[in-house]
Amino acid sequence: MKTSEEQFIWAMSVCSSAQMRVTPVRQAILDFLATIRVPVTLETISDAPGVRGHRDSTTVYRTLMLFKDADIVRLVGSSRRERFFCLNVPGENNHFLICRECGETSVLRLPERTASEVAAAAAACGFSPTKQDYEVHGLCNECQLARKAAHIPSKLPVAIRVDS
Ligand SMILES: [Zn+2]
Repeated sequence: MKTSEEQFIWAMSVCSSAQMRVTPVRQAILDFLATIRVPVTLETISDAPGVRGHRDSTTVYRTLMLFKDADIVRLVGSSRRERFFCLNVPGENNHFLICRECGETSVLRLPERTASEVAAAAAACGFSPTKQDYEVHGLCNECQLARKAAHIPSKLPVAIRVDS
């Protein structure tokens, strides 16, 4: 796994190859995403050091879309309205667990054989896979516990006595 610094250097090199102007704020966004490593919301990125107070969230969003078009940043889906952003570093573990209730995202480690089996299945369909990113949507442990705690057991149905 690449270090945060290696991820940042990769992102800067892609910007350079794409002849993208790297302002201090754009650099701060990439630095933050390389450090945080899990998908984060636009609000979190807008509040990052070097970004907060320098650009409004609309400008940050446009920058993220620019990075996305250059394949530097990946948009991670959510069943909620929020969108999550993370660096799109090739060869990295880019699999995430996404809670549909609270929006928490965490890294999902998959065995190497999973990727090779999926690649083989794709190849069997005549497809040439270049990258695999998985998103598993569901409920995080805390949200499951909160649901259980909120659940009030209903009364058991009354057994009907049949007198003969
Ligand atoms: Zn949750």
